[in-house]
Amino acid sequence: MNNIEQYIRKLESVSGLEKAKVLNEIGDIYKESNTSNESLTYYKKALEISKSIKNKQQISCTLNKIGVTYFDCHKYDEAYKYLEEGLKLANEIEDKYLLKNLNGNITKLLAETGNYKDALECHIKYSDIKETILNEENNLKLSEIATKHERENKEKESEIYRLKNIELVDANKKLKEANEIIRKKNRELTETHKKLELLARTDALTHLSNRRDIIEKIIFEQNRFERYGKPFSLILSDIDNFKHFNDKFGHECGDFVLISVADLMKLQLRKLDSISRWGGEEFLVLLPETNLENAQKTAERIREAIANKKFVYNTEKLNTTMTFGVSCYNKSMSIEYCIKRADDAMYIGKQKGKNCIIVAEEE
Ligand code: GH3
Ligand code: MG
Ligand code: MG
Repeated sequence: MNNIEQYIRKLESVSGLEKAKVLNEIGDIYKESNTSNESLTYYKKALEISKSIKNKQQISCTLNKIGVTYFDCHKYDEAYKYLEEGLKLANEIEDKYLLKNLNGNITKLLAETGNYKDALECHIKYSDIKETILNEENNLKLSEIATKHERENKEKESEIYRLKNIELVDANKKLKEANEIIRKKNRELTETHKKLELLARTDALTHLSNRRDIIEKIIFEQNRFERYGKPFSLILSDIDNFKHFNDKFGHECGDFVLISVADLMKLQLRKLDSISRWGGEEFLVLLPETNLENAQKTAERIREAIANKKFVYNTEKLNTTMTFGVSCYNKSMSIEYCIKRADDAMYIGKQKGKNCIIVAEEE
C-alpha cells in the first residue's frame, strides 16, 4: 500500500497522458490485491483523462484493463462492451500489442460465455498477431545480433591493425638503428681504407711517397707529355758516405739523418713537385713542367741546402752532402729508361768525387 500512497502523491504533480498512466498504475496495484472496485474507479478516471486528451492508444489500453477487470468479476456483458470498444480503437491505430491483448481477452470472454465459434475466430486473429509480433521481435533481435557481431568484428580488426602498427613501428625503429650502425661502420671502413691507401703509398720512416706512389705520378706526367707535350724532369739523389753515420753513431743516427734530409729536401721544392724515398738513402724527385736547365737549378738548390746544413743529433753536429743525377722527359721513352739516365748520371757524379750534380745530356 505504500506504493499506492507514492503514486497518489505523484498524481498531484502530473497531468494529461502522464496522469492517465499513473491512474492506471494505481488501478493495476488495486487489481493485484483483488480490490476490483477500487481499481475500476482509477481505471475509469484514467479513461476520462485519456478521452479528454484524445489519446487513442491510452484509451484502448485503459478500455482493455476495465474489460479484464469486469471479466474477473464475471460481469461479462460489461466486460465485452469495454473490450469491444478497445479493439475497435486498436484496429484504427493498428497497435499490434493492443490488438493481441484485446483479441486474447475477448477470446477468453467468448469461450467463457459459450460462444465457441466467435471465440475460435478471435483466437485465430490473436494467434496471427502474436506470430507477427514474435517474427518482428525475432527479426529485431537477429538484426541486433548481426549489428553487435559486425561491431565486434570491426573492433577486433582495428585491434589487429593497432597491434600490427605497433609491430611495424618497432620494426622500423630497429631498421633505422641497424641502418645507423651500418652507416657508422661504413664511415669507419672508408676512413680505414683511406688510411691504408695512404700507408700503402708512404714510406714509414720519412713519410715521403714510396716507389709505388712516385711511379704512378710519373706515369701521370708521362701521359700529360704524350697529350700536351709538356716535359718533366727527374732528380735522383743519394746521400754521400751515409754508411759512416750508421757505423759511427748507430743505426738510429742513420735514421735521423734520413728523416732530416727528407724534410730539408721537401722544403726546397714547389707544391706541384713530388719527392719519394727511392731506396735506402736514395731519393727520387719529380718536377712536372720542368726542363733540364730548371731541374738542374732545383738540384743545385737542394745540394746547397744539404751541404750547408748542420744536423744536430744528441750533442753531435753532423754534416752531409748529396750527389745528384738529373734527366728530362722531353721525348717519348720508357719511365725506367728516364730513371736509369738519372741514375747513370748520379753514378758519374759519385765517380767524380760526390757532392755534385750531373745532368744526363740530350742524346
Ligand atoms: P756512397 O757515398 O757511395 O753512396 O756511400 P754510402 O755509404 O752512402 O753507400 P752504401 O751503399 O755503401 O751504404 C748505404 C747504407 O745505408 C747501407 C745501409 O745499411 C744503409 N741503410 C739503408 N737503409 C737504411 C735505413 O733505413 N736506415 C739506416 N739507418 N740505414 C740504412
Ligand atoms: Mg750513399
Ligand atoms: Mg745508395
